[in-house]
Amino acid sequence: MKTFLLLIILTVTQSAFARKFVVVERSESNKQIYQSIELQDLESSHSFDGKYFKIVKGKSNEAISFNEEESLLLKAATAYYHLTLARTYFADEMNSSYVRGLEKVTVRLDLSNQFSELGHFAHDNNSPQFNNALTIPEGSGLASRNIGPWGKEIWFRPSKKVHLSTIDVKNTNHEFDGLAKRFRDQIHMQTFTRFLSQLVLTATQDNYVLTTEDALRTVGVTLFLELAYRSQDTVNRMFTRKWYWLDSALVPEIIYHEYSHIALSDHLELTHSTPVIEGMADYFAGKIAKSPTLAKKIKKYNTFNGKDAQRKNQYRMEFETNQWANTDFVFGLLWQVGDVVGDEQEQFIYALRREVTTDSTIRGQLVEGILKTCKNLCDDPFNKRIQLLKLLHFKKL
Ligand SMILES: [Zn+2]
Repeated sequence: MKTFLLLIILTVTQSAFARKFVVVERSESNKQIYQSIELQDLESSHSFDGKYFKIVKGKSNEAISFNEEESLLLKAATAYYHLTLARTYFADEMNSSYVRGLEKVTVRLDLSNQFSELGHFAHDNNSPQFNNALTIPEGSGLASRNIGPWGKEIWFRPSKKVHLSTIDVKNTNHEFDGLAKRFRDQIHMQTFTRFLSQLVLTATQDNYVLTTEDALRTVGVTLFLELAYRSQDTVNRMFTRKWYWLDSALVPEIIYHEYSHIALSDHLELTHSTPVIEGMADYFAGKIAKSPTLAKKIKKYNTFNGKDAQRKNQYRMEFETNQWANTDFVFGLLWQVGDVVGDEQEQFIYALRREVTTDSTIRGQLVEGILKTCKNLCDDPFNKRIQLLKLLHFKKL
């Protein structure tokens, strides 16, 4: 009897702060669906304050209450749920003691302020951000201006409808598929990336021009943005009306991408965006999703055989510069390296972070890091290294 009572008490205390919410999930075919899911590890019975994540709105430090309006609850619950999945992946599957030891991460929804290294939040009027997401490094604050220290945070920007006429796109009559195909077929991959980036970045004024600074430290790999757009159930209507927007807190792959930045930050500093740091985050976003459909799409994307496919898949000097931070060349490369490595590929790419930094060059340190990691970890280093060298050669590296 005593044991029975104890069991009941334990069950009650353990489940007290698990609660069901509707979240955005992916269907088997990778479409956006809504599902009721029990959120785990909540430390509060009335707000999104958990053991590992606290979800707040804007600049507030109070967790979002369960009594908020439905659209905010959907975003908070979706972010909380997918962040928990991503954390579990790194803590358990990658066996990351760094992730297990991390302090609680504050996650901000609907925050449009730019990040300021000194002030945490830049001034409200300083080029507000929409339709993207960002992971920021910790800061010590400024006592003289009453700004307290903060830890690593993930920010999801508010979504904002952008009309095609405010974006420099020549042919506005195509729907998304047409646009995507046209850009894929005729123009460099980078132009397509820039095109999509323009859609989801600031775009607050007419004749908006994308600057390099705007492109820094924002979620931004072609494939994931494209998939995010495609998976939105309203996608066709949306594009016919020529309006674009993205609620990044509702896109599982973007959530995984941002958490991956946190999980990899023991070696990859969060200060700025480079092809290496973005490519690494995207690799894990793709793996955490555990979707065979997504994997198939990535494979197809990597081996895209349209016009100029060869050139698009091959290394170019421009990939090294920040201007091309949104390139997904590194992502494609890592994915293919994983295919060569085989079974232990996720551990392999995770270990690779030790050999590189945010500022590593692709042709230099990344290539060396891949070969060195193989020497240490590949099951058949001699033959696997030959296969990797073949792949690197094929990529013109
Ligand atoms: Zn990123």
